[in-house]
Amino acid sequence: MSAPGGLEDTPQLLDELIQKCFKAKEKAYNPYSKFRVGAALLTEGGQIFTGCNVENASYGLCICAERTAICKAVSEGYRSFKAIAVSSDMTEKFISPCGNCRQFMIEFGGDYEVFLTKGDGSYQRHLVRDLLPHSFESGDLIEFQQKQQ
Ligand SMILES: [Zn+2]
Repeated sequence: MSAPGGLEDTPQLLDELIQKCFKAKEKAYNPYSKFRVGAALLTEGGQIFTGCNVENASYGLCICAERTAICKAVSEGYRSFKAIAVSSDMTEKFISPCGNCRQFMIEFGGDYEVFLTKGDGSYQRHLVRDLLPHSFESGDLIEFQQKQQ
């Protein structure tokens, strides 16, 4: 389903984002899980940052592709996002961000698009907010802190 103003209105750009998330998967550092994930994040200004999963012998330190891409963008000064696309090697199922990544994504807004792909390049479109209902967000903290003053 297409949404006005969404990335589906510019199919070439959406195609580029999806291709880049598949390409990013090739860089995955995944010696433990062997599970490759790639992400491509489109900023409001049109820049694309990619990321892959980066695993660690201390499993709790593993970082997902989505968070890698977001950290790369934020560390370069970008905080407004239009869309993120995510890929994996799953062929039967669309890749879906873990709970950590959903929380991480919503820190930068609930209204940007998330394209979850599967091996054949097909995708499902969501908004960040749809993937994390009843979320705890920065606005909740700010509201709380203001009441304390
Ligand atoms: Zn994750």
